Amino acid sequence: MQGYRYQAYSLHNYTKIPQIQKLPEEYRWAIEVVGRVLPFKTNSYVVNELIDWDKVPDDPIYRLNFPQPEMLVPEDFEAISSLLKRNAPKEAILKEAIRIRMKLNPHPAGQMELNVPQVNGKRLPGLQHKYYETVLFFPSQGQTCHAYCTFCFRWPQFVGMDDLKFAMKEIEDVIEYLQAHPEVSDLLFTGGDPMVMNAKIFGAYIDALLSADLPHLRNIRIGTKALAYWPYKFVTDREADEFLRIFERIVKAGKHLAIMAHFNHPRELSTEIVRKAIERIRATGAQIRTQSPVIRHINDDPDAWAEMWRTQVNLGLVPYYMFVARDTGAHHYFALPLVRAWEIFRSAYSRVSGLARTVRGPSMSAKPGKVQVVGVAEVNGEKVFVLRFLQGRNPDWVHRPFFARFDPDATWLDELKPAFGKEHFFFEEEEWPLPWKQTADAGVRA
Ligand SMILES: *Cc1c(COP(=O)(O)O)cnc(C)c1O
Ligand code: SF4
Repeated sequence: MQGYRYQAYSLHNYTKIPQIQKLPEEYRWAIEVVGRVLPFKTNSYVVNELIDWDKVPDDPIYRLNFPQPEMLVPEDFEAISSLLKRNAPKEAILKEAIRIRMKLNPHPAGQMELNVPQVNGKRLPGLQHKYYETVLFFPSQGQTCHAYCTFCFRWPQFVGMDDLKFAMKEIEDVIEYLQAHPEVSDLLFTGGDPMVMNAKIFGAYIDALLSADLPHLRNIRIGTKALAYWPYKFVTDREADEFLRIFERIVKAGKHLAIMAHFNHPRELSTEIVRKAIERIRATGAQIRTQSPVIRHINDDPDAWAEMWRTQVNLGLVPYYMFVARDTGAHHYFALPLVRAWEIFRSAYSRVSGLARTVRGPSMSAKPGKVQVVGVAEVNGEKVFVLRFLQGRNPDWVHRPFFARFDPDATWLDELKPAFGKEHFFFEEEEWPLPWKQTADAGVRA
């Protein structure tokens, strides 16, 4: 297969995309305006192979990548638009953009205060430890993506850094932390997208981990959207083979390598190149699991989900999570009522083979944990949401059903009220353990 040149497009060069001429003027202007506030990046593969330009602006992959007018509320849109129209100085536009960004809940779900660990009084900003078994690692070289999703909740952190010395220091901290936490079985590389890293840095991280004394570390996970946004990474890019060799080293060392692949729409699984990439990754012994939020205007359609899960099973992937779109960024535009998310899940789930029913959802990654909307029911004449934790800050919360008053408009856990006249949900009355505070000597749950 032929190599393919990665060309990124962003605010300063998107007008070079030939297909952009097909866009209605209103949408072209929206790129200028919204692109000042929220990150915008796409690339040659997404533009030429994934987007169906005859369907733009309704095309789901277009909606996934390009800023659209409704992503800002009208008054904010107007504020930036009028600054641009009267050629206001850059600083004035930036100042207004920052003001708007601050309103968009840049750090949802207590990620900063509750999850960032400390060892020996030192903060480790590259780690998050919320659930006992799994530590998230944000390598500083992986804090960007091959393209940006318009709904992304990681949008405040898109800055990159490419320094091997820094990487080595970073991985030393991770290893020290893992050695102090024998209860951790999984390390999840996340970002941004760790698969934007070069092979030298990624290989250095992995080799350091594999040669450290970490018998309790069983699973190495890599959260990535590269299969959807840049499958060439694993097929024709100069370092493609080197990446696959690193994957093989993980498997040969006796660790399970779990690629947590982010696919939002069945079209992302349709090209020849993504299928080749999947085949090559699977040949290393890695297992690919899949996850995606359910998002209005992009995949709020049970047919799309059923087709996506069926195709994934067909290609040897394991459907894993359906998430509810997070309460950040352009949430007002992408959010679906919880009841609608559940209907889409149920409708798709009930039409696929049991092999695809490994998927769980719809799930909110909320402050106390991952909360699944199990369904809507009526108990003693009261209409309620049945909910449960798939992951909880306190492991004892997991799979205990609990109930919220039915609310047809609610889009997130914090908009729900307990059912049956109760003041609080059960987890609000309990202590929230902080896994990173527990040390090796506490011998927690190992
Ligand atoms: C989702 C998530 C995990 C992983 O959860 P699994 O159910 O094991 O996939 C770990 N940490 C955080 C903070 C998460 O949001
Ligand atoms: S690939 Fe993931 S981290 Fe990157 S923009 Fe999309 S959702 Fe955000």
